[in-house]
Amino acid sequence: MKRILTGLKPTGDITLGNYIGAIKPMVERQNDYDSYLFVADLHALTIYQDPEELKSRIKKFIAMYLACGIDPKKNTIYIQSENEFIPAMSFLLECTTTYGEASRMIQFKEKSKANANFSVGLLTYPILMAADILYCDADLVPVGIDQKQHVELARNIAERFNHKYGNTFVLPEPLINEKTMKIFDLKNPTKKMSKSEENPAGVISLFDDIEVIKNKIMKATTDSLNHVAYDIEKQPGITNLINIVYALTNQSIEDIVSSFASKGYGEFKTYVAETVASFIQDIQTKYKQIIASKELDDILNKGKETSIKLAQEKYKLMKERMGLGR
Ligand code: AMP
Repeated sequence: MKRILTGLKPTGDITLGNYIGAIKPMVERQNDYDSYLFVADLHALTIYQDPEELKSRIKKFIAMYLACGIDPKKNTIYIQSENEFIPAMSFLLECTTTYGEASRMIQFKEKSKANANFSVGLLTYPILMAADILYCDADLVPVGIDQKQHVELARNIAERFNHKYGNTFVLPEPLINEKTMKIFDLKNPTKKMSKSEENPAGVISLFDDIEVIKNKIMKATTDSLNHVAYDIEKQPGITNLINIVYALTNQSIEDIVSSFASKGYGEFKTYVAETVASFIQDIQTKYKQIIASKELDDILNKGKETSIKLAQEKYKLMKERMGLGR
């Protein structure tokens, strides 16, 4: 059975973009793949996080994964920092990566430009991400477009390691849906919907109040054409809303567009608002039951054990291949 893996970093609330880009593809494949899903808490540290807030978010993320339909019987669910072999592996992989490669990552270039006091972790986190993927020989990694380059880096690092030291890693591939690889900010539909965005008006969090969600959609930036059409260049706001409906209802783009062909934006937005609100309402109802239950710790203990076993074996193999230790 092929293996699928993804992780989300707990730097803010899980957004609708996160759900569509990373969680939904996992839910859809959990019957057919050996599935690994984690909270990437180490990745959160590239930018300062308030320790208390970070800790409280980690468990919320796990409960939210389950509320979104991730089945704990079919997934290995764990917290990245509970597996210490992963950062240990990461250093060995850093030594197989050139500075040039790491500094060419688009995320690094953008984020280091935005903050002159960026941490070294901002440069090296894609290599930690390579360790996240390679330790368990993941074949497929569902991600949004922003992480595609990092999965490709992981593949390049694996290929180089295999070449230098002998076959050690499976070569991973990103799993990307062209239509939903980037859900855009509702207020600024040329920018990614992001959990670290300062203006919450353009971002739908899975934890948002249902009325707030509806309001955000009704106030989403559109254009003056008042004709529902799928055109990312001329109508990015409307196209983004169509993509959201497409992802949440599995209707085809053509069907969505044709049902609103003779209707205005008001009617279309009302439909989008109702669709998203009822979808998230359902998730929130499940979340409330899960966060109050005691099952989370058992799930995390089991996930930790499985992931440590694999990472320990892989780390040992890497050390042997690289000539480390006695
Ligand atoms: P992060 O928020 O960086 O932890 O992202 C977790 C996962 O969600 C990654 O695979 C991202 O590529 C994906 N993701 C984040 N934001 C979006 C978005 N707006 N649209 C689609 N995928 C996204």
